Amino acid sequence: MTLVEIEQLLDQSFVAAKGALSGARNAAELEAARVQFLGQKGFIQAAKKSVGQLTVVDEKKRAGKLCNDRDRELQEAYQHNLSRIEQQDRAAALAERIDVTLPGRRSRRGRRHPLTTTCDDILAVLAGLGFQPAEGPEVEHDFYNFEALNMPSDHPARDMQDTFYVDAGARNDVVLRTHTSPVQARTMLASGKPPIRVSCFGRVYRKDDDPTHSPMFHQIEGIYVDKEVTFADLKGTLQLFAERIFAPGVKIRMRPSFFPFTEPSVEVDVSCVACGGIGHGGSSAADDGRCRICKGTGFLEIMGAGMVDPEVFRACKLDPDAVTGFAFGIGIERVALLRYGIADIRLLYENDERFLSQFVG
Ligand SMILES: [Zn+2]
Repeated sequence: MTLVEIEQLLDQSFVAAKGALSGARNAAELEAARVQFLGQKGFIQAAKKSVGQLTVVDEKKRAGKLCNDRDRELQEAYQHNLSRIEQQDRAAALAERIDVTLPGRRSRRGRRHPLTTTCDDILAVLAGLGFQPAEGPEVEHDFYNFEALNMPSDHPARDMQDTFYVDAGARNDVVLRTHTSPVQARTMLASGKPPIRVSCFGRVYRKDDDPTHSPMFHQIEGIYVDKEVTFADLKGTLQLFAERIFAPGVKIRMRPSFFPFTEPSVEVDVSCVACGGIGHGGSSAADDGRCRICKGTGFLEIMGAGMVDPEVFRACKLDPDAVTGFAFGIGIERVALLRYGIADIRLLYENDERFLSQFVG
């Protein structure tokens, strides 16, 4: 090729090449244009070969410079478009990740905790039986937690409850209440005049921690004080209570027991809701045929109760010759475990969604 032919080749192809390299819309088009115009068989390489064959030095220089200029300009156009396409691909990938057409995540509705449900049910039943809710502090004076409930400082019954003491400076008589009974004492002292019929609900604290005991748990207590309240009234109240909380027709059974604040005292059992009080067979039967829930006894221990001890009345400024009363206390956790067939009390406090989502309501 002559110098003129080389210049023509470079000029004619240059426009098309630059258009293709700058106008490529994606990586594939750009690569095709690069191979076509800048590759080994492209016109730039062809022109460079022809330059080598020129014999006139000046012409060689001129053609060589033109070749290099065109080559560089096209390389720049290629690089420029390449970074534009890469940027465009990155943006597309990002847009995919925040695809606004995806359906939104539903916010899930919460459920009531099984303890809350159980507690509300018990309070509702007690309200139906005439017990007004009463509340008291969880950080309590020794007097209300023990003394007023017939447990002076040297009383052996204090050992029944492992107590958390609160560091209250010079005072050493501040505790985390070990039961809800101090509310009863406070209510009697505040009221001073029977009839008194209240239910007290709340958190209580003891140094316990195993599958069936937690250092913090919930109790509900009821107390009824009036003239001529009898043990038969207690039994009737608890029978009604058990039927409404568990199932119509459940039987209650009372066994003699001891609590410092009641005399006589009883442990109250209800007939097993799983086996109907038979102790074996049914869906709750273990391999040996015995009921898993009641361990074959047919009964479940649910609460302590008794007639209010005269000493408690005296400490609460009521005349034990003029009034009588009964009291009972229930562990809410215990009732929830039985109602829902939960094996480990700690499940109630772990807030595991998989566990809690099983409870409707
Ligand atoms: Zn049973």
